Amino acid sequence: MSATQEILQRVQRVLMTTYDPPPIVLARGDGVWAYDLDGNRYLDFAGGLGVNILGHCHGEVTAAIQEQSAALAHTSNLYLHAGHVQLGARLCAVTGLDRVFLCNSGTEAVEAALKLARRFHHERGDVRTEFVATRGAFHGRTLGALSVTGQPVYQTGFGPLLTGVHHVPFADIDAMRNVVGPRTAAVIIEPIQGNSGVLLPPPGYLAALRDLCESASTLLIIDEIQTGMGRTGEWFAYQHAEIQPDIVTLAKAVGGGLPLGAMLARESIAKAFVSGAHGTTFGGNPVACAAGLKTLDVIGRDGLLHHATRLGREALAMYQELRTLPDVVEVRGLGFMIGIELRSDVGPLREACRKRGLLVTAAGKKVVRLLPPLIAQREHFAEALVILRAALAAS
Ligand SMILES: *Cc1c(COP(=O)(O)O)cnc(C)c1O
Repeated sequence: MSATQEILQRVQRVLMTTYDPPPIVLARGDGVWAYDLDGNRYLDFAGGLGVNILGHCHGEVTAAIQEQSAALAHTSNLYLHAGHVQLGARLCAVTGLDRVFLCNSGTEAVEAALKLARRFHHERGDVRTEFVATRGAFHGRTLGALSVTGQPVYQTGFGPLLTGVHHVPFADIDAMRNVVGPRTAAVIIEPIQGNSGVLLPPPGYLAALRDLCESASTLLIIDEIQTGMGRTGEWFAYQHAEIQPDIVTLAKAVGGGLPLGAMLARESIAKAFVSGAHGTTFGGNPVACAAGLKTLDVIGRDGLLHHATRLGREALAMYQELRTLPDVVEVRGLGFMIGIELRSDVGPLREACRKRGLLVTAAGKKVVRLLPPLIAQREHFAEALVILRAALAAS
């Protein structure tokens, strides 16, 4: 029995069955490449679900992690450490927001955002407890975040969820106008829906939503957990629309591969989180902060936003040739976030890619999602295209 088979057999007995048994066991990674236990090499365009924004084991991020973990690995929030404040300041600078709360995951960032929105209105004596979200949205798995997630597949059997949550079709501003009202605490939205298929709203949608929230005196929460940290060619996808959100949630790539989440807000809103109102034991962990800080440094220093804009545009144009294949409906995306919509279910294609040495993720039932690291070069996109073409012909 191979080492991989042995692990796969034990998985069935040990782990909860929340994930379909994955076909491979990864052993190490190096830049755009991942290697399994049997020594097979993969071009990793799944990127740990978009987490590995600088690829696997970036030398400087690894060194920062090693250094920090040897100096001080955990403090809790009873004591400060410099990295927490330094990372917070950097995140405020890149988002254009004033204050930050650090946590450990995306769902926690969303949870904090929902709580802050309610608390903000409460402090003002305004009875606004409801949320408006979009169908197909993905905001996380804890009960609050799950309530604003707009996909029954994740919600079935977990009710009752939060009351007063309204879901409207994505990218439909009139539908928003019809439900945003005097009880709305906040509207929460992904600037590009990631999990449900790399769906881009039409130009002007986010700006119109910003105006709508303003005139309805409600808050706009932008969930940048997947689209943030340079993924789309700007630090944050809302910057393409030239709007300023009230609250932003971050996770995935923000920790440079380590578990880290962040929720940022404007000053007037953030002050509703008075001492003791919210907290977390691990949030702002020194090692995760060190990895996050180094990741921000490298993205900025190496011009990776520009790289993602330029090469992302080129790759998207190059990948349009896939539309000549009968199973491909559309190829869309922004920066290093690309979705290939199929007529058939995505499972067999994902497997055919893996067998040919390419890791990709599924988004929804029919979309292949590519989330390559920002260090990927033209030749990597070209190689992935060759594999996708062959896999589409075979699957
Ligand atoms: C992944 C994701 C989340 C949830 O993040 P977790 O770290 O898995 O809790 C929330 N929102 C969006 C847009 C995401 O892509």
